Amino acid sequence: MKSRWSEREARRCGGDPLALRVYTSRLLGQEPTLVLHGGGNTSVKAPVRDLFGEPEEILYVKGSGGDLKTIDASGFSPVRLDVARRMAELERLSDTAMVTTQRAAMIDPGAPNPSVEAILHAVVPFCYVDHTHADAVVTITNTRDGADRIHRIYGKRMLIVPYVMPGFLLSRKVYEMTREVDWSRCDGMVLMNHGVFTFADDARVSYERMIRIVTVAESYLRRTAKTVASRTSHVVRPLSYDLRPTTYDRSCLEQLARLRRAVSCARGGAVVARWEPGDEAAAFSALRNVTSVATRGTLTPDHVIRTKPFPLIVRRNPEADVERFTVAYRRYFARHANGKLTCLDPAPRWAVWPGRGIVAFGRSMQDVGIVADIVRHTLRAIRAGEALGGWRPLPQRALFDVEYWELEQAKLKKGGASLPLQGKVALVTGAASGIGKACVETLRAQGAVVAALDIDRRIVSLFAQPGIIGVRCDVTDARQVDAAVQETVRHFGGLDILISNAGIFPASESIARLRQETWNRSVSVNLSSHQRLLQACIPYLSLGIEPSVVIIGSKNVAAPGPGAAAYSVAKAGLAQLARVAALELASSGIRVNVVHPNQVFDTAIWTPQVLASRAKQYGLSVEQYKSNNLLNVEITSRDVAQLACAMAGSLFAKTTGAQVPIDGGNDRVI
Ligand code: ZN
Repeated sequence: MKSRWSEREARRCGGDPLALRVYTSRLLGQEPTLVLHGGGNTSVKAPVRDLFGEPEEILYVKGSGGDLKTIDASGFSPVRLDVARRMAELERLSDTAMVTTQRAAMIDPGAPNPSVEAILHAVVPFCYVDHTHADAVVTITNTRDGADRIHRIYGKRMLIVPYVMPGFLLSRKVYEMTREVDWSRCDGMVLMNHGVFTFADDARVSYERMIRIVTVAESYLRRTAKTVASRTSHVVRPLSYDLRPTTYDRSCLEQLARLRRAVSCARGGAVVARWEPGDEAAAFSALRNVTSVATRGTLTPDHVIRTKPFPLIVRRNPEADVERFTVAYRRYFARHANGKLTCLDPAPRWAVWPGRGIVAFGRSMQDVGIVADIVRHTLRAIRAGEALGGWRPLPQRALFDVEYWELEQAKLKKGGASLPLQGKVALVTGAASGIGKACVETLRAQGAVVAALDIDRRIVSLFAQPGIIGVRCDVTDARQVDAAVQETVRHFGGLDILISNAGIFPASESIARLRQETWNRSVSVNLSSHQRLLQACIPYLSLGIEPSVVIIGSKNVAAPGPGAAAYSVAKAGLAQLARVAALELASSGIRVNVVHPNQVFDTAIWTPQVLASRAKQYGLSVEQYKSNNLLNVEITSRDVAQLACAMAGSLFAKTTGAQVPIDGGNDRVI
């Protein structure tokens, strides 16, 4: 690992201790193998003068739940150093008392709560203290003879602290262990199964010591891996799975959708399932002893709140597998809770899918991303630990204490409340503009993840945000439709909502002059493509969470206009298709409803010129023409999208086969 220190950047801090602290904290935060998603913490001790000119020593320590990668000065909690130090001298201290006393000792009540390791930072008698959960070091400690190895690697200048629950207990332990220690003879401190501390009065020295300690551990792991590979003794060998599935066959994707549904049921709400079929995950999942190594425990104890203590192992029947997991989790809870506490939801956060890779689950894209990142690091650590003679992380008892520790659970609550379509997977066609685009945005805003399909190739980069994939697809091409549906399931783990919207509005032609080409094209896009798309989606929708189809129809179904035979007939057929689908799919729990919009002018069809000429035709101004309906209101794509999303959601949970106009009131429709 290379030092990222830049003398030029450091000089910009102007010698300000806190600015330098922010700078090197971010350097640590940039290395995912040092700290992941809020792991690790740093501090600096600096003198200040209070309002009355009195000098005070302040410990600026990372606020709880902050992230070193993006931290700034406001992310540090300023705690009076003497109070924090005296807290370490107490024989015992409850979590509540620790948090309250620390908050009371802050010189800025608006700052975040100090990290749970604040007292430990106060105990270390140096200005700068850096703490990471470095993968390489923790991996070595998570082995059978971890402490001996650490001792052999680093020698006497490294303090080795046996595992103790983080928070007051750990701070107290370090305080006791170091009372007689000559700190000047220490380069750092390794906390078994947890992480590393370095310290110095100089920001650069403390930071670079961390880098050096981690580099030594990394080269140790590399050397050992090589030796082990050359011996090929007890090394775990992959089974003979095909590790590179080139196509995702239907049975495989249906298996994934079943897994996602079962996990969602156990979780009490829809989850996104991210399948990682890449080489590394697939190779891990194919290890002969994968069940044993994957379920031994987490890389560091704080990961347990994200991943649970062990993953689900997929066998043949996903529903039975999830059931087995929840029973095992409840047993784990009962074993350690001693009749106290309340069991958290018993759903797995990730799964090992032998031969296929791993699957991460989460209620939001952010959650699923965090789980997937942690798991990726864990797999590497497990393999390295096995190469060192045996992966041996903390026992479940210790993980339980952290998982059910209120100070850790508080971090999860920052995630926010769940949205109406949280964790749902949706597919929208005609998504590059107008109603389709508005549907994608509304679904996403309500918590769903979305596959946005369109024939326009700009769709691929139109929605540059996590939780939306743009897929180029000509809905009249059955193969492209199949591929797009499969891509959706592969990416998000299933399918719950289909908004079948793609359509065209052909130029006005009377029946007498109607060209065959106009007719065929309209029937193909406005009718047949919807049938094929629905057909492709049914196997996955029937494995979805409260699945629902919304068809975007047209006012023309109930109130056709002259010159629009090709359009009106295709849309009428589409409405009829939806009615039959409602009848056929009810037994699978799939609802099918239709919205009939009219006069939605913010779509690609309605250019200002077309709008002006139409208005003129009726002797109206453009404004009058736009709201030419019983309620005299203008209807926007967003209005239609909100109705479509409502129909896909719980408000319409008991409605199927309905056709709802959204047209401001039309006397011909009423
Ligand atoms: Zn830590």
